[in-house]
Amino acid sequence: MPRPIQATIHLDALQHNLARMRAAAPDAKVWGVVKADAYGHGIERVYEGLRGADGFALLDLEEAQRVRSLGWRGPVLLLEGVFEPRDLELCSRLALWHTVHCDEQIDMLAMHKTREPHRVFLKLNSGMNRLGFAPRRFRAAWTRLNGLPQVGEISLMTHFSDADGPKGIAHQLRVFDEITRDLPGERTLSNSAASLRHGADPAVRADWIRPGIGVYGSAPDYPEHDIAHWDLQPTMTLAARIIAVQQLAPGDSVGYGSHFAADAPMRIGVAACGYADGYPRHCGTGTPVLVDGMRTRIVGRVSMDMITVDLTALPQAGFGSEVTLWGRAGNGAVLAIDEPARSAGTLGYELMCALARRVPVVTA
Ligand SMILES: *Cc1c(COP(=O)(O)O)cnc(C)c1O
Repeated sequence: MPRPIQATIHLDALQHNLARMRAAAPDAKVWGVVKADAYGHGIERVYEGLRGADGFALLDLEEAQRVRSLGWRGPVLLLEGVFEPRDLELCSRLALWHTVHCDEQIDMLAMHKTREPHRVFLKLNSGMNRLGFAPRRFRAAWTRLNGLPQVGEISLMTHFSDADGPKGIAHQLRVFDEITRDLPGERTLSNSAASLRHGADPAVRADWIRPGIGVYGSAPDYPEHDIAHWDLQPTMTLAARIIAVQQLAPGDSVGYGSHFAADAPMRIGVAACGYADGYPRHCGTGTPVLVDGMRTRIVGRVSMDMITVDLTALPQAGFGSEVTLWGRAGNGAVLAIDEPARSAGTLGYELMCALARRVPVVTA
């Protein structure tokens, strides 16, 4: 029998969350962001759930090929554009739209031989200082692109650094509006946080939104808001089973480093999930888990293949009980991925992307 651990991808939840993101910006088309192998879910696994999107956005050319192999004939956008000249051949062949964020990418286009002009998304660096043309250089880049026979429609794009927090997006929006006001073309601005928190603001109206994390059932601004607040559902469940039970007397400790010691009699369940499965080692004592759908906590350190959980208040739980590390339990109870992520000092993004290869995955 295989080790009792499994991840489940929930197609109904993907559909639900996609509809939620669409409702947050009802006038916009929706890029389903499927970079990083659909945030660790697997592009092929999420495809049925997300094919209601208007397009797919990702970074990796190999992943773009996989989306085309699934039969997707609609828009595919490369969010970082091309990395070397021959990438443009694949863009031509697979009809990929691509971001243009630097002069080198325009140089490559100028040398490229293509029959069909490329659809490009010219990116403005409106303050995040990662990708994009600086405001004072943006118009020149647009003019140069517009003069190339290799280029067809030019769309306009930027990315917000603080959509999930108190600083917000107004300062970047002002820069974007000022620079692009009289330029033609479709616009795309918002990730999940901007779509959910600012989607109702007429100033952020755009032709396309680019939600990722919200589609995958994690609240982009947790802990200020949780998935229940945004009406999102977990799309990935990581669940294992209890493979052993220990009784502790007061003073007994659990796990490596004797990190946790009981101050009263305790029952401890050992679950078949560890950091080699992608469960963060930084999830310390107190991190919530569900056992048979009931909330309890981790005690002691996460090890490579096992974690230890407190069963003291769950006398009916024992060998074989279901342990939900994140997602949806068999009884319907939900543990958002944001909770263990926060215990580990990180985000739901990192946990879902880090699901280990040794964990079998099913879709439901
Ligand atoms: C990853 C990414 C997104 C999606 O962001 P979420 O926070 O996951 O919604 C949107 N736009 C760009 C350019 C990205 O790289």
